[in-house]
Amino acid sequence: MIYPAIVKLMIVSQLFFTLSASQTEFSDPELLHRVETTQKIVAFTFDDGPDPLYTKQIVQQLTSHHAHATFFVIGRKVAQYPNIIKYEVEKGNEVGNHSFSHDLHWSSPSAVQEIKLTQEQVYRATGIYPKYFRPPMGIINPLIRQAAKQAHLRIVLWAWDQDTRDWNGRIASSITQHVLDHIHPGDIILFHDGASKQTNTVQALKVLLPALERKQYRVVTISELLQLSK
Ligand SMILES: [Zn+2]
Repeated sequence: MIYPAIVKLMIVSQLFFTLSASQTEFSDPELLHRVETTQKIVAFTFDDGPDPLYTKQIVQQLTSHHAHATFFVIGRKVAQYPNIIKYEVEKGNEVGNHSFSHDLHWSSPSAVQEIKLTQEQVYRATGIYPKYFRPPMGIINPLIRQAAKQAHLRIVLWAWDQDTRDWNGRIASSITQHVLDHIHPGDIILFHDGASKQTNTVQALKVLLPALERKQYRVVTISELLQLSK
């Protein structure tokens, strides 16, 4: 069908709005993506672990700079590597729920099930139930909202300009530069410890953590960020 240019433009902009609204709802106050504060604090978050190769290296980096993070874990991997998330918690980090399978094809029973199974796996490994949920790819829909609510989990995303895209093979120096260029008190920053080969993430932290120390930023968990910003 042939549309006049203005109609085409309307269709394209409507499509863009629909896609962006369903995938990243940064203006929705129910979804935590940053906090308002004047204190120099930021929350680091790592998704898609635990990973047998990279997670411990990341925890060691954080520990050596007195920093803590929230790890949004995949339940299936927790079942495989319970000792790794036990180690995260022992070092003062926090564990969040990132679904059981990281499957994007949600339906109501499976969304509830995915969350519940992961809660159980994390509890079994650490004795603590997660308080936060981050849906795979940050995709939000009414079923996911309902499932998180039912499990008493708060949905946590990330600051719109603090997606480091470290899962995409971005080199360490540009991950570091991206975070430093966009840093703002109260930011929640998105990294990965288990999405792909995260050597770049480990390397970036070696430069980024001392750089943030020099800027007098504290790197904290989501719970600490919420507590300190009150
Ligand atoms: Zn993920």
